[in-house]
Amino acid sequence: MLGYVSVLLATALLATAAATEPSVPTRVELKPTVGGVEATFTLPAPVARFELEEAVEDVRADTWHVQTPGMALAQGAVSRTDGASFATFSVLVTPDSRPRDRRYPALTAIGGGWQIYGPYFKAAEGRSPIEGHVAPPKGWTTAPQAKSGRVALDGYVYVGPANNIAAGSATFVTGPETPTAMRDAVAKAASQATAYYTKRLGMGLKAKPTVMIALVPGFNPGWQGDTTAGPVASLRFFGPKAAQMDSDDTDRAVQFVNHEFFHFWNSRTFTSRNSGKEAWLHEGMAEYAALLASRQAGVMSEAQVGEALSGRLTGCANALKAKGLDADPPRRGGAVYDCGVLVQWIADLQVRRASNGSRDVFDLWRALFAEAARNGGAYDGAGFLARAGLDDPAADAPLNLLMRPGGPDRWPRLAQALEGLGAKVTPTRSGEAEREALVMHVLGQVCKGGRGFYGGDPEALKLDTRDRCGVLNGDPTVDTIAGHNIMTDVQAAFDAAGPICAAQGDIVLSLKGKAVATVTCKTPMSPRPLAWTVERWR
Ligand SMILES: [Zn+2]
Repeated sequence: MLGYVSVLLATALLATAAATEPSVPTRVELKPTVGGVEATFTLPAPVARFELEEAVEDVRADTWHVQTPGMALAQGAVSRTDGASFATFSVLVTPDSRPRDRRYPALTAIGGGWQIYGPYFKAAEGRSPIEGHVAPPKGWTTAPQAKSGRVALDGYVYVGPANNIAAGSATFVTGPETPTAMRDAVAKAASQATAYYTKRLGMGLKAKPTVMIALVPGFNPGWQGDTTAGPVASLRFFGPKAAQMDSDDTDRAVQFVNHEFFHFWNSRTFTSRNSGKEAWLHEGMAEYAALLASRQAGVMSEAQVGEALSGRLTGCANALKAKGLDADPPRRGGAVYDCGVLVQWIADLQVRRASNGSRDVFDLWRALFAEAARNGGAYDGAGFLARAGLDDPAADAPLNLLMRPGGPDRWPRLAQALEGLGAKVTPTRSGEAEREALVMHVLGQVCKGGRGFYGGDPEALKLDTRDRCGVLNGDPTVDTIAGHNIMTDVQAAFDAAGPICAAQGDIVLSLKGKAVATVTCKTPMSPRPLAWTVERWR
């Protein structure tokens, strides 16, 4: 009993001490160099170990180089190798050597300057807050703007030549290597998206957003984008030909801007309470809002929006199958977006129908945000679904069909329900879905562990098999399965494989008429993937 009391006393004393002592920040001085950015940490008092908030070992192993002799970085913490205390250390941060999935890059070059991810400098919880300082060389500046040498490190910050910054409806940061057509398209989309969302949500942004465009010629071709506090949106184009942007790149950038700008409202101004489990909610609306914004701006036609929705409906049906979105939500990958867009599309159709076209999905989000404002800024799926009409007791109410598990007739019933709301949705076959189902089924016969394939080549498919797939080891490229070309005639290939697998026969994979491998198919194929064409979406 005595012990219990003394513990209580000690806690009370500690709490008093902590409350009266001012919280002295850790100072982080950022100094740009030719090869990166040097960060010097000055701690308020010596420590034996300095823990960082985000461990991201893969990123730091690649980009963080401790400069102070006798010090090392391991498992997200800096310490002296002799175990002694220290109050200062320096790190040279160099650009990431490759992009990483679901990770912010530590450092990206833009027009001779740097895009720095600030939160990687933050100390672990319970430690003193960090205070970023930067002394840019002559002619250089920062974005978002530093205030008397202090930069916020809660998101991306650009430190570089001032002439890479252009003002507009947002602050744009990009180097001379970015083609004018790309700058113009991004600036126009940013301005239109801001105006459109502000009007439709009845609410502007508190701070002017910053948009950074970077080209990274050393990475494999592709692109990546993300947003941080600031608010900042970063768009990065990869590959040796990144500077030769075509209209596809520009369209992608516009859709990206439209998507990310909606996050300035639904992720940065307000937040999803269960953003992991309910990723479909904030991602779905960002993507659906982007479609509406592109349509509004004339960047997409009615038919193109319908085509996009066809892909979402088809993708969601084949990802969820019998599972309900409520109990088994996807947390990553394309299904988050596919099913998320489908939810928003249904909600949009229902709100329009119920209001004779005077309200739509933006009005629903406006009300959701108004309620979030009274609840600390957070909204959630239950609140959204109640507003969208999930409580409709009708068995064929489309949101019920999507959110709850269902039998084989569930997806056709959902398509029917969409028709009842004014859309025109016709069953079809999807080459893309059948190609994926066929290739994955064949790989499933021989692979142990991870397997997949690479897209991007219209004439053949490169398999991702490494040493895990027996006769298909070594990432072979194929264009024909079961006697039919899987790029130009995949439905015939899918139909031919069915009877072979039912009879446990052999499937031949080949490239340009030359056999690559023969796989014995021991398990029957699943039914053909579902697919629809959305001929009218509203
Ligand atoms: Zn998003």
